[in-house]
Amino acid sequence: ASGYTLLRDPHHNKGLAFTEKERDAHYLRGLLPPVCITQGLQEKKILHNLRQYQVPLQRYMALMDLQERNERLFYKLLIDNVEELLPIVYTPTVGEACQKYGCIFRHPQGLYLSLKEKGKILEVLKNWPERSIQVIVVTDGERILGLGDLGCQGMGIPVGKLSLYTALGGVRPSACLPITIDVGTNNEQLLKDEFYIGLRQRRATGQEYAEFLHEFMCAVKQNYGEKVLIQFEDFANHNAFELLSKYGTTHLVFNDDIQGTASVVLAGLVAALKLVGGTLAEHTFLFLGAGEAGTGIAELIALEMSKQTKAPLEETRKKIWLVDSKGLIVRSRKESLQHFKKPWAHEHEPVSNLLDAVKAIKPTVLIGSSGVGKTFTKEVVEAMASFNEKPIILALSNPTSQSECTAEEAYRWSKGRAIFASGSPFDPVELNGKVFVPGQANNAYIFPGLGLGLVISGAIRVHDDMLLAASEALAQQVTQENLDNKGLIYPPFSNIRKISADIAANVAATAYELGLATRLPRPQNLVKYAESCMYSPIYRNYR
Ligand code: NAP
Ligand code: MN
Repeated sequence: ASGYTLLRDPHHNKGLAFTEKERDAHYLRGLLPPVCITQGLQEKKILHNLRQYQVPLQRYMALMDLQERNERLFYKLLIDNVEELLPIVYTPTVGEACQKYGCIFRHPQGLYLSLKEKGKILEVLKNWPERSIQVIVVTDGERILGLGDLGCQGMGIPVGKLSLYTALGGVRPSACLPITIDVGTNNEQLLKDEFYIGLRQRRATGQEYAEFLHEFMCAVKQNYGEKVLIQFEDFANHNAFELLSKYGTTHLVFNDDIQGTASVVLAGLVAALKLVGGTLAEHTFLFLGAGEAGTGIAELIALEMSKQTKAPLEETRKKIWLVDSKGLIVRSRKESLQHFKKPWAHEHEPVSNLLDAVKAIKPTVLIGSSGVGKTFTKEVVEAMASFNEKPIILALSNPTSQSECTAEEAYRWSKGRAIFASGSPFDPVELNGKVFVPGQANNAYIFPGLGLGLVISGAIRVHDDMLLAASEALAQQVTQENLDNKGLIYPPFSNIRKISADIAANVAATAYELGLATRLPRPQNLVKYAESCMYSPIYRNYR
């Protein structure tokens, strides 16, 4: 290949870091200015440039351009500056990027499967340049973050998520495939937008939708085999639950909104119990919001309780209550409930609002997962604090404006007794001379390590025990010091590669125990093995 082509290949391009010898050997002489610099200096320069941009979207675009120009430098930068860059590559900035995707679109970045490709999906998959794919993240764009239906412009999400699979979990970039399924959009604004990049029609539903997704699922398995992980992302909740149960027994599928959230929240709860005391089964849980996040978390908690106490799931579920937009979910409503809510319809008289539900149920743990902000009012938090020495309060709704309460409110209204974590980040809070550090229940703690564990063991199915294994590994990373001194129930993000390796090892161990692993023989030391498999963004030498 010519030097010119090499400079334009993002997988191999090193820019000014090509050495003198490489410049001679690969026909690069004259195509670059004379100076040779290190990857470290390149990194420093890019970071310096990024920080000049005041607008987050500009930083996003600069990072995406870097990914298209020099992949290793992009990942080196991301890995070394996770805490600073995560909010740009992923939420919240990626949300704004999706809203404006048509306008800022430069490179395709992933595979688009629209209804135009119906009947030809297998052929289209073969147009993708990489053959051996390990992780696919796919969305249909119907419920992007908290932003709703963004149709084809949801592509920013699979692209961003997969960059975290690589940066945080060490899955090779060439083994990652972002896919957007375009069955239309019901977003009127986008349908009228001259720069919209998707099909200009309303969403296909029912049988047409199911058939298209079925063709997709079959084509993926046929083309990449049984060990490819298909992560469903940001589907509307009716489709999300349905796809997961329909393909859970035939494919390696995972839904981060349901299962990833459940795993990360359970980890935080397990850590919190070290402060509050008692076993899971001794606690009572109340959720505001009974959708993908709420019922996903509830089910995993019930499962873990049932493992610990040997009580059947039907019993342990009774310690968990959910409130949806119509009030407390109770038995008398059962007929009209969506099927994923039915297990939570317990015997109780109807209760119409959260405050009354808190007073009636007297939960020890309150979890917000409705997407509606300011719902944990002073009265609600005070009620929690009135019958709990240390109430556990998780305000998971995103973005920050939708948080059920702020960290400051949770600590102040509970007189510093709440154990608090949230979906969106909050700064530490000082109250009566003590500093409280709220944890962030970020899914990025779990899915990269979980994915790596599935990949390195060659797992062919995702089992709930793997979600529990991931939770357990994460909870173990929380130090007693952080718990005692700061009330912090999640570990610092700066250790994420180590955390991911530990999660991967625990997930892989579970895959082997369950007989779901195909990579044989089982490596002796799974942590070491996981670490050795992780992608490194350091430049390679080209002779
Ligand atoms: P979803 O599937 O649409 O579910 C939303 C649920 O909230 C539904 O049960 C809905 O009730 C209920 N709800 C809506 N408005 C309400 C109100 N005013 N009062 C009471 N309940 C109400 O959404 P999701 O995917 O679960 O996400 C929910 C929120 O969790 C989002 O803000 C998301 O950002 C956040 N989240 C956080 C994390 C994290 O922290 N790691 C992870 C995932 C999601 P009906 O069923 O009656 O409509
Ligand atoms: Mn999501």
